[in-house]
Amino acid sequence: MAVKTIWPIDHACGHHADRDLSDRPADRRAGFAEWLARQECTDC
Ligand SMILES: [Zn+2]
Repeated sequence: MAVKTIWPIDHACGHHADRDLSDRPADRRAGFAEWLARQECTDC
């Protein structure tokens, strides 16, 4: 199974974005993706 680095994020603003979290430690990605989902996206 390939290491998951692209995470689909549903942002608080309602937008959806696939974020490349490959620069994050593998064990932090799930928590970071959760945090990202509570933020507005980079376009907002
Ligand atoms: Zn947005």
